[in-house]
Amino acid sequence: MNTRVPSHGISRRAVLIGAPAALSLAATSGRAQSSATVLVSHPAFEKHDPGPLIVERPARERVIMDALAPTEFGGLIRHEAPLHEDVAEAIGLVHTRDHFEFLRAHAQDEAHLPFAIDGDTVMSTGSWEAAMRAVGAGLHAVDCVMEVGNTIKNAFCPVRPPGHHAEADRAMGFCLFSNIAIAAKYAQARHGAARVAVIDFDVHHGNGTQRAFWKSKNLFYGTTHEMPLFPGTGSVSETGVGNIFNAPLKAGDGSVEFRAAMTERILPALDEFRPELILISAGFDAHEGDPLGHIRLREADYAWITQRVMDIADRRCSGRIVSMLEGGYVLEDLARSTAAHVSALMSA
Ligand SMILES: [Zn+2]
Repeated sequence: MNTRVPSHGISRRAVLIGAPAALSLAATSGRAQSSATVLVSHPAFEKHDPGPLIVERPARERVIMDALAPTEFGGLIRHEAPLHEDVAEAIGLVHTRDHFEFLRAHAQDEAHLPFAIDGDTVMSTGSWEAAMRAVGAGLHAVDCVMEVGNTIKNAFCPVRPPGHHAEADRAMGFCLFSNIAIAAKYAQARHGAARVAVIDFDVHHGNGTQRAFWKSKNLFYGTTHEMPLFPGTGSVSETGVGNIFNAPLKAGDGSVEFRAAMTERILPALDEFRPELILISAGFDAHEGDPLGHIRLREADYAWITQRVMDIADRRCSGRIVSMLEGGYVLEDLARSTAAHVSALMSA
């Protein structure tokens, strides 16, 4: 049974290395779990260690998994992020082959690790597996929510390294591969999703996602972010082919301005786009305590935006949402914010 049915270069055969049996059970048991949320994680995400000077650090993963351990999260279906068979092929939907090979060569050159790509972006001995499973988590989560007859409605993937700054031929801003853009294009190629949207509430603009979607009217990118701030992109005038919706915030803005930007600009455009799948770049560094930005969001704001996106997902695409971790650097705030986000996803 090795028949491959190519669809835009991506096999329709979802073969997962190391995927748990729970996947097939959940897909075939017919249990009444219409609102199930899957958590796609892996210990490898703690093994990516850019070093003591980088705030995007392994402890982020640990505090998130601890925050999602209590009994109130017992309803989560827990899957391991797989080494997806099609991962290199899927990465090729967004990145150049040279970029993939450059990172792989340096990541596997053990004698010269850690390897600093730039001042923010460093690979350690565990980085390659983490990066492959970070992309694989997104592909697996997309498979879970897109599979016809599956009982999983939405997914959260607490991945490291994050992804929304990585461009076609460039790693930057802690990011090696554009996890969420790859997941979006994979949903189109593998599952035939006609229109896929990404909502991004990280404090930084997702230049990589914007670049990957720039000419694709069937991909939507809506984002709030602080400006001016790294990476410098994200002005209202950057609109792609009418599919990019930037809603920049200014230093000192908080809940009121964030909710207004979402309510007045991003969410109506998202609804009008009629997405068949919604992805979330879930960065929690717009939290009021975060040292990398100057926006003043709180946990309740993350629960609020999650619920608003879920409202549109329920109306447009049977609730299908895949959320992937981006930033968030104060451990306690990151843990509480993530818990609020996942609680909302589970409330479907
Ligand atoms: Zn960020």
